[in-house]
Amino acid sequence: MVDSGSVTRVLQRLRSQLPEAALVTDRTRLRTYECDGLLHYRVVPALVVLARSADDVRTTVAACAAEGVPFVARGSGTGLSGGALPHADGVLIVTSQLRQIHEVAPHDQRAVVDPGVINLQVSQAARPHGYYFAPDPSSQQICSVGGNVAENSGGAHCLKYGFTSNHVLSVDLVTPQGDSVTLGTRAPDAPGYDLLGAVVGSEGTLGVATSVTVRLVRSPESVQTLLAGFRTTDDAGSAVSAVIGAGIVPAAIEMMDALAIEAAEAAVACNYPDEAGAVLVVELDGPAEEVEHEFAAVERMCREAGAFEQRVAADDDERAAIWRGRKSAFAAVGRISPDYIVQDGVIPRTALPEVLREMTRLADERGLRVANVFHAGDGNLHPLVLFDESAPGQGERAEELSGAILDLCLAHGGSITGEHGVGADKAKHMPKMFSDDDLDTMQLVRCAFDPDGIANPGKIYPTPRLCGERPGKHTGPHPVQAAGLGEVF
Ligand SMILES: Cc1cc2nc3c(=O)[nH]c(=O)nc-3n(C[C@H](O)[C@H](O)[C@H](O)COP(=O)(O)OP(=O)(O)OC[C@H]3O[C@@H](n4cnc5c(N)ncnc54)[C@H](O)[C@@H]3O)c2cc1C
Repeated sequence: MVDSGSVTRVLQRLRSQLPEAALVTDRTRLRTYECDGLLHYRVVPALVVLARSADDVRTTVAACAAEGVPFVARGSGTGLSGGALPHADGVLIVTSQLRQIHEVAPHDQRAVVDPGVINLQVSQAARPHGYYFAPDPSSQQICSVGGNVAENSGGAHCLKYGFTSNHVLSVDLVTPQGDSVTLGTRAPDAPGYDLLGAVVGSEGTLGVATSVTVRLVRSPESVQTLLAGFRTTDDAGSAVSAVIGAGIVPAAIEMMDALAIEAAEAAVACNYPDEAGAVLVVELDGPAEEVEHEFAAVERMCREAGAFEQRVAADDDERAAIWRGRKSAFAAVGRISPDYIVQDGVIPRTALPEVLREMTRLADERGLRVANVFHAGDGNLHPLVLFDESAPGQGERAEELSGAILDLCLAHGGSITGEHGVGADKAKHMPKMFSDDDLDTMQLVRCAFDPDGIANPGKIYPTPRLCGERPGKHTGPHPVQAAGLGEVF
């Protein structure tokens, strides 16, 4: 519980250290920040700080630490799990004005950027040097590198190149006590614990990133892109298994089902094959000879799995046209449904056909529809649960179906999130995947960074914790709790 005067004291303190323009206190303006890309959770923050430098971040966090006031970092606010959802009695630290690219060093294959720099801008800055930044969320035109680091974001090309964690060399972090530390090094194999590894994907619960050194990847000599139309998702799924099973690692294999295609057609007229029950977008990149050889094999495997139409992009414009449908798919679903939930779960690739069929059955049972657009090569699903909030009971049924889909992923040995994070949205699902001991151990790590629990509280871990609503195995105080180090789940 935050004492009611403490945010006022933080504000008074900040007024002497930051310009008034950096402080948002007006209720109407504060509402601008009440949610991220997950629109159905909304909380108005007590105060917003528009940071203009790493020092502003440090000053703000130090003021929060002195008063025990919670803070939440926010990049571009495109997160889909409510990670940047503000705290009602806390401070939201917005990094979107920290947008400088400080260094592009092609010979060292790295760039040093502010946390608010937009993902795509890193690749744009590196391109003239023959390099790019590989993690490419579909939101890459708007999401920030700080948000990518916090969510360990993925994207279409992460199948071959790995997630954000594979592309971060070091992070300058303001700790929840208001200290500045650098985690990671530019040299390989640094001794000691991999604290950088702990911070990437920690969803803003271990501190605020104020500078990120990212790895740059050499632009490939050759890129080939294929659009293949299939009658069914089963056929498309078996093409994916054939390609991966043959030892080919495409830069991307993305799948869309009939409903997702319908939405994309309505929004951007992407002209995907008529009457396709599923399409695959397969991209190969690398040395020209290798790409040519493997691409022929991929075309053959798609044909053998039942592709009735295949189109190869002849140039960059045609490639962009193929990707347009896929990249616009999430937003496009708004064309065919008044409301939808973007789910994010992972399954082993081989379980794809079975899980997709079972998902349709679960949706039919509840009288709802699910559109699928996802990173098929990774087994990273993005089921979009369509519903109409104005229809009585549909919102609740959609929410329940969305949870049942995660249970389905877990039953097949998968995970409750692939790349969108846990945030506020999936905290309640964490005990399905982790034991009490697992969660206690994670909490110990968190407490090592943030003993007072002020960095993005209420995210990742299920709440309420000690009020007895969830019967747990601990009957007396747990050693973690007794030592004042954390809460027990
Ligand atoms: C249309 C659409 C498509 C998407 N496609 C993908 C996709 O393909 N792959 C994918 O992985 N995600 C995708 N996303 C989700 C989202 O874009 C990513 O999670 C992205 O990395 C969030 O970045 P952001 O700057 O918007 O972060 P925010 O939403 O502002 O914040 C996200 C989390 O990061 C924390 N955070 C932000 N900045 C910092 C910082 N400097 N230091 C510490 N913590 C910080 C916040 O506290 C929060 O927990 C998509 C979203 C949309 C709307």
